[in-house]
Amino acid sequence: MKTKIYDVRDLNKHNLEQSIIYDEAEANAKVNEALNKIDEAAKILVNGGLVAFPTETVYGLGANAMDPEAVAKIYEAKGRPGDNPLIVHIARASNIGELTPTLTPKIIRLIDNFWPGPLTIVLKKKPEVPDITTGGLDTVAIRMPDDPIALELIKKAGCPIAAPSANLSGRPSPTRGEHVVTDLDGKVDAILIGNDCRIGIESTVLDMTGAVPTILRPGIITAENIEAAIGETVVMDPALNQRMDASNGDEDENLIPRAPGMKYAHYAPKAEMTIIEGQIDKVKKEIQRLKGLNEGLGLKVGVILFEEKAFIEAAHEFFAKLRAMDDDGVDLILAGALSEQDGVGFAVMNRMLKSAGYHIAKV
Ligand code: AMP
Ligand code: MG
Repeated sequence: MKTKIYDVRDLNKHNLEQSIIYDEAEANAKVNEALNKIDEAAKILVNGGLVAFPTETVYGLGANAMDPEAVAKIYEAKGRPGDNPLIVHIARASNIGELTPTLTPKIIRLIDNFWPGPLTIVLKKKPEVPDITTGGLDTVAIRMPDDPIALELIKKAGCPIAAPSANLSGRPSPTRGEHVVTDLDGKVDAILIGNDCRIGIESTVLDMTGAVPTILRPGIITAENIEAAIGETVVMDPALNQRMDASNGDEDENLIPRAPGMKYAHYAPKAEMTIIEGQIDKVKKEIQRLKGLNEGLGLKVGVILFEEKAFIEAAHEFFAKLRAMDDDGVDLILAGALSEQDGVGFAVMNRMLKSAGYHIAKV
């Protein structure tokens, strides 16, 4: 399949306004050109095709969520297991009624506070939502992304868009247009290239179908943020606290994650990856020691060590670093655990642990 690659960065006029040479008429023409490309991409979606597009979290791979044949192509292109449901994206909060019969005051408060933005809400699904979109579950995960390109595309398509991350299943999530091209060129109809993703890790997934609001996947919107918005305690899916290390590789049956996707091997770089955890000076020393040792054996070693408390930056950079190291042919990645592991730190550590296949060395 020949993939159309549309650079639509000019949709954001601010990009053009940052240029030293600026011409209003030319800028408007460029914005229109970007709009036309998005139009073409929307037509592809309407006709049952696949289009990858930027969001503020990571790039998504979209199809018409209500068209089972279109959605089947997503699973095929990504090599994604069929029981791993997709997040359905809408461009207007008012479209939520097409997907779910449940709209309580609490859910409306969530929408008012966090949409458009990186919060995915799991709700009871309407029968019209195809089973393949929800991996056979009777619930549907819904989000309104905060990205002008994504919103324009979804509005023009005029239907809810199912979109998991636009990577091959198991690979680090794509946060830059080039990551999507690497993974999906030749496998999808079109790729929209926008700016690098502002956030860099996937949305928080919040299950609102049970007695207690439960975070199934941590993200930049934390339990505390949600509690402040709805005035109610929010809990974490217990499976999120599981830490399998080399000495304890068993999986506890009670700890099977409720977001089906969280149980799969994820975000894995080609290199072996180990997380070093402990007091920061000790971590740095151990990383230097292991680096020297492994380089002595002829291995190429990559180090990931974020500034203390720079959680937002860590979220923004983490997946891109993994991919850059893969491109450099790194054999072993040594990553320092984050100094604080609640809130946003917890969300980034969740991605790090999965990338490393839960290999942790404590110092
Ligand atoms: P991604 O494909 O990377 O966007 O990941 C979507 C995440 O949301 C996966 O972990 C899915 O398992 C989870 N998810 C999607 N729909 C549901 C649902 N109805 N119930 C629980 N988790 C869901
Ligand atoms: Mg994904």
